[in-house]
Amino acid sequence: MVTVEATIVGGGITGCAVADAAARAGFEVVLLEKEARLGAGVTSRNSEVAHGGMYYPPGSIKADCCVRGRRLLKVFCAEAGVAYRECGKLIVAVDDDEAERLDPILARGLANGVEDFNRLDADQLLAMEPDVKAVAGLWSPRTGIVDAEGAARAYADRAAEHGALLMTGTEVTALERRDGAWLVTARRGDETWTHASTHLVLCGGLHADDLVAMTGLDVDAEGLRQTWVKGNYFSIDPRHAGRVNRLVYPVPPRAKDTLGVHVCLDLGGQMRLGPDFEPVVRGVEDYAVDPLRLTPFYEGAVRFLPWLEPEDLNPVMSGIRPKLEFPGPFADFRIRRYDGEREGLVALTGIDSPGLTSSPAVGALVADVLGGGIPPAPLDVGGEA
Ligand SMILES: Cc1cc2nc3c(=O)[nH]c(=O)nc-3n(C[C@H](O)[C@H](O)[C@H](O)COP(=O)(O)OP(=O)(O)OC[C@H]3O[C@@H](n4cnc5c(N)ncnc54)[C@H](O)[C@@H]3O)c2cc1C
Repeated sequence: MVTVEATIVGGGITGCAVADAAARAGFEVVLLEKEARLGAGVTSRNSEVAHGGMYYPPGSIKADCCVRGRRLLKVFCAEAGVAYRECGKLIVAVDDDEAERLDPILARGLANGVEDFNRLDADQLLAMEPDVKAVAGLWSPRTGIVDAEGAARAYADRAAEHGALLMTGTEVTALERRDGAWLVTARRGDETWTHASTHLVLCGGLHADDLVAMTGLDVDAEGLRQTWVKGNYFSIDPRHAGRVNRLVYPVPPRAKDTLGVHVCLDLGGQMRLGPDFEPVVRGVEDYAVDPLRLTPFYEGAVRFLPWLEPEDLNPVMSGIRPKLEFPGPFADFRIRRYDGEREGLVALTGIDSPGLTSSPAVGALVADVLGGGIPPAPLDVGGEA
């Protein structure tokens, strides 16, 4: 039986970044992706924002990997010729109550190391974005937008340059630990094979917990069960293109693991609103956007875009987030290394936003773990949930 050093399951931005980092660290890497192309999963359906990193609790994996990841992503995209635009982001308060809630976000961002993050008054906001109504705001000039699938492909290309074998259209169907190695069974068309692997890295996005279950672990007992939460988007009529030139977010709604409906820009400058927060049945990948969701989108956005009319909005796309079930208001990425009878296994679950932004930092972290390096504190690797 063929034996490889590291098998990575899942060719989204996370798996591709891990493959890139591991191959550059000298590992013999095989990446297996069930879809016909890389980056076709969650990576192809999101806001494509390279986030600043101001929302996550200091010390969390998300805070650390988002802030480091954005810096690395920007440099990588410049080198690899992947589209990336540092358009900046405003978080706007529409009344005094919201204005007070900006301070903790600013403090958290500064604690996390978000660069050049600062507070603006109403006049400064008006000068920057005359068509946005706000009494105060926060400005993150380093936040950007990026071609997510392009970045995934570029990581994969660099991994291949360093010897990685990347196989699309290849579904992993069984994982078994035997005689000190992981046996990986995969199917590609009519062909099925099993190879042995010293290390096994699971980057399965929405199906990450299914892959964990294949290893024989009890997903619920491990705290790795994912729920699915859809995020819908509505486009803003192109006749308004150019009216807003930065990403514009509201003050996040209280007690919800979402940033609130915000203005996203695509790389062509078109505006859309989203994503919202719609829990959906796990396993049902239905990306149709219900037009009846228009009202909350309109009501959320018209607070800071007073010129918006309901007729300006059209359902445009959606994505589904893999969210870990968690008791509190914040769920971190879970990057778990196993020892003992599952030695060599690294399982990544709950890679929701800012997974795109964090990808190069997560890749470097996993390569470090594979190499036996001690990951920098306070990353939750190998510990309890
Ligand atoms: C609505 C929405 C908005 C978002 N906005 C942002 C944002 O603005 N900025 C940001 O940083 N992040 C954002 N995110 C999060 C970001 O998109 C994800 O964290 C990231 O794309 C996850 O990448 P991934 O590689 O982990 O998962 P995926 O891209 O889903 O990749 C996992 C891959 O594993 C493959 N796979 C699964 N099972 C198997 C198997 N058995 N065999 C072989 N292959 C398998 C799948 O086919 C898939 O391609 C957003 C997410 C959503 C849903």
